[in-house]
Amino acid sequence: MGQKCLVHKLEYNVTHHCNLKCDHCDHLSPFFGPKDNDFNSSISLAAFEKQIGILSRHLHSEEFLILGGEPLLHKNVLDFLRLVKASQICEKSVLVTNGFLLGSQDDELFRLVDKITISFYPSQPLKKEAIEKARERCREHSVELQIFDQPKFSMSIVGIKNEDDRLVNGIFNTCTVAWTQRCYALHDGYVYRCSRAPFIAYKLHKLNLIPQDFSKEDGLKLEDTDDFGARAQEYFNRTTPLKSCSYCLGSVGKRVQHRQLSKTEIQDETWARHSISESIDRTKAFRRIALWNWFKVR
Ligand code: SF4
Repeated sequence: MGQKCLVHKLEYNVTHHCNLKCDHCDHLSPFFGPKDNDFNSSISLAAFEKQIGILSRHLHSEEFLILGGEPLLHKNVLDFLRLVKASQICEKSVLVTNGFLLGSQDDELFRLVDKITISFYPSQPLKKEAIEKARERCREHSVELQIFDQPKFSMSIVGIKNEDDRLVNGIFNTCTVAWTQRCYALHDGYVYRCSRAPFIAYKLHKLNLIPQDFSKEDGLKLEDTDDFGARAQEYFNRTTPLKSCSYCLGSVGKRVQHRQLSKTEIQDETWARHSISESIDRTKAFRRIALWNWFKVR
């Protein structure tokens, strides 16, 4: 068996839909629903068990994140968490949630995780009592609790292709998801360089904006071979943009006040009409990309 690839964060979406409808959600969760059952069907306990079994032989992560969408909407979320624990793939198993369904969870959830991250949104604030209750239960079970305050969202995904290859290259090479947070994703038998790449092309194709779903071209197919750890390491360090990067703002999107989308905006798939030119923070992009081009500083 070859050497294991060591990574910082790896995430797995157990749902894609959510009970909140945040504008500019970088998982496009408000736009996932029953119409996406073809995509959602890739999430199953059996498939996850197989994937995490293979991956744990070749890769070890500091944190393994179970998230969504809203992960607590999955009725078998505990089974996914049990598999993460049994696989020993990580130092810490982390549940990332908006917290609205946390109060009704069984104690076992708290026994299965090492950390819970509650994303706190001011436009849809979780009640103080719910946060206090979560704090108490975490303390009781020695679970680390992080409250991640998100008053603003960055514009992240666009439906109109960025045709400027130099800009795409700059956006990718200064992308904090890929290079600083190094938050990778596991989806449908592939590992991905970032959390957005597994679904951008699926959504574009669903709306007939591209002729083919190219997601899998952006990922690395999971294989139980001796060299998989080394190949994953090489894949995670590539400086060539993914195809998905042509529809993404990386870390240079405009910051906008957090708000909930209306039903009409969701039906209209508003994200798909966004272009790079209207969504990019030009000052931030110029500064970050110049630093990368001149000094290779990210
Ligand atoms: S698609 Fe590209 S630019 Fe967007 S988050 Fe992933 S790596 Fe970064």
